[in-house]
Amino acid sequence: MTKLVVATGNPGKLKEIQEYLKGLPWQLELKPADLDIEETGTTFIANARLKASEVAKSLGEWAIADDSGLEVNALDGAPGLYSARYGKTDEDRINRLLTELGNTDNRQAKFICAVAIASPDGKIALETEGICPGEILHSPRGNGGFGYDPIFYVPSEKQTFAEMSAETKGKISHRGVAFEQLMPKLEELSHRLTTE
Ligand code: IMP
Repeated sequence: MTKLVVATGNPGKLKEIQEYLKGLPWQLELKPADLDIEETGTTFIANARLKASEVAKSLGEWAIADDSGLEVNALDGAPGLYSARYGKTDEDRINRLLTELGNTDNRQAKFICAVAIASPDGKIALETEGICPGEILHSPRGNGGFGYDPIFYVPSEKQTFAEMSAETKGKISHRGVAFEQLMPKLEELSHRLTTE
């Protein structure tokens, strides 16, 4: 099995990615805690590329990274790249977003998840971006999930991310879509590496 370092310090993210890549011949592990990569990119995909590439190069191993966030149309794409830093807690972030949106009729928004995989020399071997369109509610609904989930309503499911089962969110979310797109490409890459 080829080692694939997950460019995150978050064990929760490792577990989630492990679940998506189940059955593929990659041995996933967390990046060392002292290896920190600054997210200086101006897009989600640029940050995913940067993290995957820098971690791969530093360790001389394959690396995978993701970067995600919420873009709200009426706020010109905010909080976007600043989704994690929009407030101190999930509650603060949700309250700030709802205050800034006020009673605006345009509630259109989308979650984006960019994923990149770099080879041990730091070159990007695969990348993809998953999008989940939805609407921002006027007040939170549901207890599941994390982050902005209680105010993100998905019309096709008639539920917020926080009201859905983990299984449904895992399939239709920006992350689910990104990994579904990545899987066939990653299977092909795994096959190429084992037959080389
Ligand atoms: P990161 O990709 O782990 O840096 O996540 C960026 C931020 O976007 C998170 O801290 C959350 O605030 C937000 N976010 C990303 N994905 C989700 C999601 O599935 N639900 C709710 N919030 C999310």
